[in-house]
Amino acid sequence: MTPPFVFEMSVWETTPAKTSFKPVPKSWCKPWDELGLAIGVFALISCPNCHKVLSLAHPEFKVNKYGLVSPGISCHHCKSFNCEIYLDKWNRDKTLYAVAYTVGRKFRIEYCHASTQLEARFHLGPGKYNIIAVGRAVGFRVTDEKKGTLEA
Ligand SMILES: [Zn+2]
Repeated sequence: MTPPFVFEMSVWETTPAKTSFKPVPKSWCKPWDELGLAIGVFALISCPNCHKVLSLAHPEFKVNKYGLVSPGISCHHCKSFNCEIYLDKWNRDKTLYAVAYTVGRKFRIEYCHASTQLEARFHLGPGKYNIIAVGRAVGFRVTDEKKGTLEA
């Protein structure tokens, strides 16, 4: 299974009238009124493959408190980006962290909002697991000796 892609939050540069903008690839941006977008558009993302812009709108898409967008995204421009995605800092106060851990022989990555790595570690709560790594979800990579590199 392809790991989710985490879009970094960014403020895209606009023209003075704010009617057009320069997207930052692999990032997401909150839309603004001057764009005159359809009602329900809650985020603009720049496709990691083709860098073109996709707008995410309710009710087609939903976002949970961790920034997980459902259903997953399929870029209609390049058709080669099909993935589950997260919007980093969807909850503005905190950063999205990825916690990589194993339960028995299974490798898992859990996402949570936290202010620090330490707080992210507490997110899993008590249980029989082994935390391998904790890091900011944007650009997070863990090397699993058996299966190679996993990215989040
Ligand atoms: Zn694309």
